[in-house]
Amino acid sequence: MNTEIFANEKSQVADVAREMSRLGLVSGSSGNVSMRISSDKPGFMAITPMGVNYSELRNEDIVIVNSELDSIGKSGVPSSESLLHLSIYTDRPDVNAVVHTHATFSSVASLSSKGIPPILDEMVIYIGGSIDVSKYAFPGTEELAQRVCEALSDKNAVLISNHGAVGVGNNLREAINVSILTERIAKIYAFSRLDNQIKPLPSSAVEKERAIFEMKRKFL
Ligand SMILES: [Zn+2]
Repeated sequence: MNTEIFANEKSQVADVAREMSRLGLVSGSSGNVSMRISSDKPGFMAITPMGVNYSELRNEDIVIVNSELDSIGKSGVPSSESLLHLSIYTDRPDVNAVVHTHATFSSVASLSSKGIPPILDEMVIYIGGSIDVSKYAFPGTEELAQRVCEALSDKNAVLISNHGAVGVGNNLREAINVSILTERIAKIYAFSRLDNQIKPLPSSAVEKERAIFEMKRKFL
């Protein structure tokens, strides 16, 4: 198969991966970014390669895999968390892009099993409510993929226990924006806990904002 036809997808994934690195949401070659290629080729995705530093990442380094995670054409070795990305696409037909970060405050929040309750209006509107933490599983395993999907449920962000965060979206822009927002929320939450006086959003606001979250998805 000629992988040239995926040049556009490769450049989009590489751009977001470089942006994620520039924003300090990952370091070295950690974290990963993917997008679903198209609904008429189920299971195909473009994903960042294993072990390439984002500062040296070229568009052509992005790997194309099929639904068995075999690389297609001249592609290299896909990210070690490819199974996680594939499981999210299988579970969530509305998701077309996945961004996995090792951002500092998101990682701090992933150390507690409680996650982050709905504390800011935009959190419910863009993420769907609380940001939950998956049960611990070893990186790269099917167990981790399953547990992360369970904790993500129908929302747009989740914390991976003792590891980092995942943001998803209808497109790459939404997935990276959700990841940036998740890190900002995690930072605010960490500071708010210093005096232990957290006042969550009123449940009536959460209800109305959740309706906006669901409506936005319907009109995509
Ligand atoms: Zn990771």
